[in-house]
Amino acid sequence: MTGLIANSHDTVVGPASRRKTRSVTCEWGDHRVQIGGDSPVVVQSMTNTDTADAIATAIQVKELALAGSEIVRITVNSPEAAREVPVIRDQLDRMGVSVPLCGDFHFNGHKLLTQYPECAQALSKYRINPGNMGGGKRRDDNFAQMIEVACRWDKPVRIGVNWGSLDQELLARMMDENSGLSRPRDAQAVMREALVVSAINNAQRAEELGLPGNAIVLSCKVSHVQDLIAVYRELSSRCDYPLHLGLTEAGMGSKGIVASTAALSVLLQEGIGDTIRISLTPEPGGDRCREVVVAQEILQTMGLRAFTPMVIACPGCGRTSSSFFQELADQIQSYLRVQMPVWRSKYPGVESMNVAVMGCVVNGPGESRHADIGISLPGTGEMPAAPVFVDGVRTVTLKGDGIAQEFQAIVQDYVQRRYGSKANA
Ligand code: SF4
Repeated sequence: MTGLIANSHDTVVGPASRRKTRSVTCEWGDHRVQIGGDSPVVVQSMTNTDTADAIATAIQVKELALAGSEIVRITVNSPEAAREVPVIRDQLDRMGVSVPLCGDFHFNGHKLLTQYPECAQALSKYRINPGNMGGGKRRDDNFAQMIEVACRWDKPVRIGVNWGSLDQELLARMMDENSGLSRPRDAQAVMREALVVSAINNAQRAEELGLPGNAIVLSCKVSHVQDLIAVYRELSSRCDYPLHLGLTEAGMGSKGIVASTAALSVLLQEGIGDTIRISLTPEPGGDRCREVVVAQEILQTMGLRAFTPMVIACPGCGRTSSSFFQELADQIQSYLRVQMPVWRSKYPGVESMNVAVMGCVVNGPGESRHADIGISLPGTGEMPAAPVFVDGVRTVTLKGDGIAQEFQAIVQDYVQRRYGSKANA
């Protein structure tokens, strides 16, 4: 008898099928982005420039779009910002950047959208936070005013509830009801329920006010991973609006990336989530596009979408004789990412390519063979030669000081041959 466990069923691998939702269109001119329905999960981002500075904002929107952001959100917080939105749109159009813009409104969105109709028209989507619109009748009137503008301009909205600005009247009422129960729930559970109720009630109200049901996306953002997972599971079970996922205030550096990845991966694996945004705090002088790269990498490593050829690199260990292989892996990853804005249209399918850069013979040749193209560098004490594998076949062995340049040229040649127009003819 062997040590194998007999099992007639294969292990199920892969995410659950996507939750069924309505399909929302966010568009500018001929450029249409579908959120929900059968569409792939959409990557979004947000600028951190002053929107009143139209040039700086247009440049950052362009950078985010080139990095792969499919919708870009901009703050619209003042008359100066609202006035510049059509200027930003115009700048982008002149630069050939048609990415749809979403306006982020709080407190005064009802005034800005009605007083600056060109701003309302230039945006492709409005983000509304019902918790930041005043209280009582004033809140209802302001909300109605924003929905009326969305109907007039035929724009979709995201009703974005956030626990930092949750409707306090609703929360107080639900806390009171909870305390009257024979077995009250803990305050955190009531807060989560209030987020879900706020999002769904406001979506239903928007529909009653005339906004089509297929023009509404919902989000309920919190900053703790387990709360986010619990809230979205609940939200997804109670409505069929497309859902925008994001961990708010995720933080800086690896903490922000890990927390966002942990939360979003669980939900995406369960088929929940139609568009994502990673709320990373950039380091001073850091690149805003990092949040787009992280969003893409979450989706690509989960096998949900492909954006950029992936570099598989070993972590290195005592067998690596220098940092050369780390530098080569980094150089190749950067090279592939820089090429993608052109390659995306010139070489369809290239985004699914795998490139392996390995540090020694232990796993190097095996891993390189499994990749589309791979290189196994010499480890400590090994022959100073780097075999290259293309489609699983060893093709050439590189030596000397020009290994990096030669390998890059081999990758470029492979891309042209495999994904170029002749290859697809
Ligand atoms: S492939 Fe070689 S260098 Fe890389 S981690 Fe494995 S043993 Fe270490």
